[in-house]
Amino acid sequence: MPDVTTLKRALEDRRNALSVKAEEIEGELRTLGDPDFSEQATEAEGDEVLEGLESSALLEISKINAALARIENGTYGTCTTCGEPVGDERLVSVPHAAQCISCAFGIAFLSAVEA
Ligand SMILES: [Zn+2]
Repeated sequence: MPDVTTLKRALEDRRNALSVKAEEIEGELRTLGDPDFSEQATEAEGDEVLEGLESSALLEISKINAALARIENGTYGTCTTCGEPVGDERLVSVPHAAQCISCAFGIAFLSAVEA
């Protein structure tokens, strides 16, 4: 497992970057929401794209917060679904990963089927 201090640092840095990004998007959305803005249709489409970006940033922030909480309580690196190790390789590429690769892919597959 990667060094916890390094890991926490990386997660916190990422969270800060995402917070800044979410705030920028929020600012953009307010500007676009200005009723004086001429192209209404384009504006609405832009809003949706920005809202999507904002919610994915906020979603990642919540995953990072959960990962930091798992570091604190000592469950970090253990799959939240099957209890097996998440795996170093996966943690290096996705430090906020809560699940091992097979559970993560299994769930992605199931939700694709349900959708
Ligand atoms: Zn698992």
